[in-house]
Amino acid sequence: MAADRRIVIENCAIATVDANDTEYASGHVVLAGHRIESLGAGRAPEGLENVVRRIDASGHLVTPGLINTHHHFYQWITRGLATDHNLFDWLVALYPVWARIDEPMVRAAAQGSLAMMARGGVTTAMDHHYVFPHGSGDLSGAIIGAARDMGVRFTLARGSMDRGEKDGGLPPDFAVETLDGALAATEETVRKHHDSSFDAMTQVAVAPCSPFSVSTELLRDGAQLARRLGVRLHTHGSETVEEEKFCHESFGMGPTDYFESTGWLGEDVWMAHCVHMNDSDIAAFARSRTGVAHCPSSNARLAAGIARVPDMLAAGVPVGLGVDGTASNESGELHTELRNALLINRLGAHKERALNARQALRLGTYGGAQVLGRASETGSLEPGKLADLVLWKLDTLAHASIADPVTALVFGAAAPVTASFVNGRQIVEDGRLLTADEDAIARATRDEAQRLARIAAQG
Ligand SMILES: [Zn+2]
Repeated sequence: MAADRRIVIENCAIATVDANDTEYASGHVVLAGHRIESLGAGRAPEGLENVVRRIDASGHLVTPGLINTHHHFYQWITRGLATDHNLFDWLVALYPVWARIDEPMVRAAAQGSLAMMARGGVTTAMDHHYVFPHGSGDLSGAIIGAARDMGVRFTLARGSMDRGEKDGGLPPDFAVETLDGALAATEETVRKHHDSSFDAMTQVAVAPCSPFSVSTELLRDGAQLARRLGVRLHTHGSETVEEEKFCHESFGMGPTDYFESTGWLGEDVWMAHCVHMNDSDIAAFARSRTGVAHCPSSNARLAAGIARVPDMLAAGVPVGLGVDGTASNESGELHTELRNALLINRLGAHKERALNARQALRLGTYGGAQVLGRASETGSLEPGKLADLVLWKLDTLAHASIADPVTALVFGAAAPVTASFVNGRQIVEDGRLLTADEDAIARATRDEAQRLARIAAQG
């Protein structure tokens, strides 16, 4: 949208998620082009010029768009498998299937993953993709293209694995890369697709898969590559007791010390899960400003444990929310993770004071922007920031009797999205995507899931 064209949203509750948690019981937001121009209590100022649209948002809460900080899009076509396994057994069951993915499968799976999140209020998505079978096509290009076509702001965490079966790893050898091959392909992806500008729609991070699927050299050289290119670093960390045991047996130290020894703590790093962290691990993350992608549903699905999110927040660790891959969180939605994060953390050590509704909303918005390195651009509603925001409908049966809108959004049923804007462009209306055909995506993902199952069954 041209910079001088305005959209006015009025008569809505607003949770800005700014540094002071400013909220308005009834207020307005003015978008100008792809940025937020102004917001506040009451009606929008009189006399605004070039207003192309005026939305009466009575009965709605407006929040920053949700930000997903950990996902594996390709898993959209392997949902509902190995449903009663822990992480290691689940990986052993699924790697032979995942090793057969190709470009059309990954494109369809990316569309399915993105569509499910976008229609539930996600405006910034990420995909940690680390399975690049030999001869499988331009998987990174397919994923980035799907996000661009859907109009969602996006970070591709270009993953990698160089520890296949012959090196004692879990994936088949034809599904892993060499050390040099992974580094070269990652650098090429950054150079081709990463945009460092304020309003970038596509960014790329360097993202070796996990301590037990990559060599120490790939971690160390990957960190150096990311810093040379000026991009962020992402991986899985401290997910399970088995990983902790593996690190002690292989490296003589726990995961956090191992990450530190390979250059993987820092304000340019974020890690998924971080479930098994002791006090000194949390202190090291806080000291180095290393971020965390908290994935409560996936951790429950794989019986991994409960991350110590309240302790991390108290220590000053940046924490965002993640769907994680949909082979370990079949719902694929992020707005339901606000509620799950709150409830699961209350089952942990902190009981009823673990997290409140506003902290949960902050995890899914500003916290996510922090860990993706985009907190100055998105994650809160403030003048000058990008126009990434969601109108949640809270005046129907599901929510109307709950007085506080943030409580309704977090504690209540998954709220319908009346409108979602990314970069000032509306991508969702009344719960349906404006930028893609959901039914066509559903058919394509079913067909590609069936094709993958057939190929995998042939072995
Ligand atoms: Zn993951």
